[in-house]
Amino acid sequence: MSIKQKRYFLTEEEIPTQWYNIQADMKNKPLPPIHPATKQPLKPEDLFPVFAEELCRQELDQENAWIDIPEEVRDMYKYYRSTPLVRAYGLEEALGTPAHIYFKNESVSPVGSHKLNSALAQAYYCKKQGVTNITTETGAGQWGAALSYAAKVFGLEAAVYQVKISYEQKPYRRSIMQTYGAQVTPSPSMSTKAGRKILTETPNSQGSLGTAISEAIELAMSTPNCKYTLGSVLSHVTLHQTIIGLEAEKQMAMAGEYPDIVIGCFGGGSNFGGVAFPFMRHNILEGKITRFIAAEPASCPKLTRGVFQYDFGDVAGYTPLLPMYTLGHNFMPANIHAGGLRYHGAGVIVSQLLKDNMMEAMDIPQSETFDAGTLFAKVEGIIPAPESCHAIAATIREARKCKETGKEKVILFNLSGHGLIDMTAYDQYLSGSLHDYEVTDADVARNLAELEKVI
Ligand SMILES: *Cc1c(COP(=O)(O)O)cnc(C)c1O
Repeated sequence: MSIKQKRYFLTEEEIPTQWYNIQADMKNKPLPPIHPATKQPLKPEDLFPVFAEELCRQELDQENAWIDIPEEVRDMYKYYRSTPLVRAYGLEEALGTPAHIYFKNESVSPVGSHKLNSALAQAYYCKKQGVTNITTETGAGQWGAALSYAAKVFGLEAAVYQVKISYEQKPYRRSIMQTYGAQVTPSPSMSTKAGRKILTETPNSQGSLGTAISEAIELAMSTPNCKYTLGSVLSHVTLHQTIIGLEAEKQMAMAGEYPDIVIGCFGGGSNFGGVAFPFMRHNILEGKITRFIAAEPASCPKLTRGVFQYDFGDVAGYTPLLPMYTLGHNFMPANIHAGGLRYHGAGVIVSQLLKDNMMEAMDIPQSETFDAGTLFAKVEGIIPAPESCHAIAATIREARKCKETGKEKVILFNLSGHGLIDMTAYDQYLSGSLHDYEVTDADVARNLAELEKVI
């Protein structure tokens, strides 16, 4: 039997000591977030009531390309980092492609996804500032699990609003959060004004990330010594995730290769940006021509079919207005299994980069993602998260193109998490009862029409 996998690791000393802030190097900086009341560009102080102060400064920092990782956070990273960079010989062989396929395996973190990279940083900065309670929303439960554990690590209490459909479909994620000691509430709930309003208008609402965000922000604003945290979309979250790409850059060098294509699945952009930006830096500064592909669900196609416009990050309109690709903050995505990708908008950095053609986007139907994930499990042994299946499907599309054209491209994708708590989804796929959801042009147009009124 031939060896079908090769893995690359870094020593503790080689683990990066700084995160990479691509805003500093971007030719066209992201447009500023706008304060919804004053209509003025946001200052870090405007965000202080909601987020830890250091995170607010990171959010709007367009000057410093490198940000030191606090020693306390880096010490926690060493519990599971470096994560392996894997040469996927098994997948290459199964596809008969001349492409060299690598993946960065973030599923080895204690909570099973990349989300812990930012959860640890956010909990640390809250603790350092004397905060005692943190709150957040979670879709599939990955972010909630990561935050619950990070809160425990730094001695904070965590309250999590979980999107109701996930709370019901994925009870084990709730148990995981509760095991770490967090308080979990299905959203929309009657515990906040935002939740009560939604339940009054739509009594059987299944919830969405936008709804849960509104509830968590409201709790943070109305509770003393409580801050809100977010698992994606915002620039400081993506900043923390660059640890993925910075490690991958060193590991690819160990393999003697450099990627022609970098791929990540896309919810709000943090794991995509995390793996992509350290490589994109070389496109910006040194004229490298690596392609970057964000893989999103066909049922929530903000990058491929949304518009670039100022919009709210949540349903209730509590967040600043963000310049982003969006389907409209009222967009209710279909109940696909990739709960982490069911969000109406994209982060401001990625939105600007897409507008400037620094990256591409690909939308993929749910069934194709499970075809890809199932093949990957058989040949690489890891059962991928439904979100990560989007990145694998995009990788397979590109690897097949390499086969057709005979080109030996180097493809790197991020395996953002494992799917061991998502077996209900695999069950449906295996029994043939998994659905694809079409978003009609009329659906998109209707939501965007409502958006006009906001601006
Ligand atoms: C949350 C999540 C995503 C999507 O979030 P991004 O911020 O776009 O990375 C992707 N994969 C997994 C496993 C997740 O938990």
